[in-house]
Amino acid sequence: MAGWSATEITRTTVTNGSRLPQVDFVAETEQCWHCGSRLRVQKSKKRIVSTIETVTILVREIRKVCFKDSSHPVETSEALSTMVPCGQRYGYDLIVWVGLARYHRNLQRKEIRAELLQKKDIILSDGSISEICDRFLLYVEALHVSCIPELRVAMEKGYPLHIDATNEYGKGGLFLCLDGWRGWVLYATKIATENAEELRPAIDITTALFGDPIAVVRDLGSAGAKAVDQLRQKNIPDLVCHYHFLGAIGKKLFDADYSLLRKLLQRSKIRSGLRELLRDLRKSHTSDRYAGKFGQGRMRKALPALILWVLEGEGGKDLPFPFCLPH
Ligand SMILES: [Zn+2]
Repeated sequence: MAGWSATEITRTTVTNGSRLPQVDFVAETEQCWHCGSRLRVQKSKKRIVSTIETVTILVREIRKVCFKDSSHPVETSEALSTMVPCGQRYGYDLIVWVGLARYHRNLQRKEIRAELLQKKDIILSDGSISEICDRFLLYVEALHVSCIPELRVAMEKGYPLHIDATNEYGKGGLFLCLDGWRGWVLYATKIATENAEELRPAIDITTALFGDPIAVVRDLGSAGAKAVDQLRQKNIPDLVCHYHFLGAIGKKLFDADYSLLRKLLQRSKIRSGLRELLRDLRKSHTSDRYAGKFGQGRMRKALPALILWVLEGEGGKDLPFPFCLPH
């Protein structure tokens, strides 16, 4: 924040019972951008601003206007505009701090509020935090769009377009267009329901921004199939995702092999062996070596949890293949 040092704390002002330092930000330019004439002070505007660097201050922005012609563009402080968006009260560094706390560290609003107060001496309401989070996402999207030329250079060998939608029962869902090789989300949008008319615009935007993909990978839904009609007509391979494919027909496809595997596992009595080992490990859990029926060796810390995971993985009909299977 280069301009910050050029500003001056002039006095402290009492606002809402607390004393805030007042900082002047004078428009840096000396000449009219339009005609080159000298400038005069037009007016000053005050607002409260919070940034991580300055904490909460009262900002007085002193704007300038052309001496000859007041219809020429008004000059504002560049130092201030690199610190905080025009007319707003939360600085860019604060928006980034809150956004990372929310989406990178997965903190809840209450936790963010407490940490901001404790570590940064900034007081924010839950509502303000939500607002800042939304703004952060908007800026991330704008940054993503502005980086498209660089992203396209990195993607010069092309990309398989993976598409998938999530659905929050009745509340609509999220539709994602990914670069399947790199795992990058190229475009995402909210959808009311999963139908071709809702999905197609997102695919159009993705291909307009990133070019045609080398292939499409999707689930077996008819909405996705219809939405990529145009790409299929251009002879772009339209593939079904292996995971979704097996989810749909894996059980039938591997029925014979699975029953053989199940028989082998039952015959080997591996599950009762695992249960016995788990009991043994629990008994000697304080030691870092194991010596017993199953031989001896160093105890791996995560071994009991791993055994438990195998034993408790009983499957369930709500899970997709192969997680629905008990063995
Ligand atoms: Zn001028």
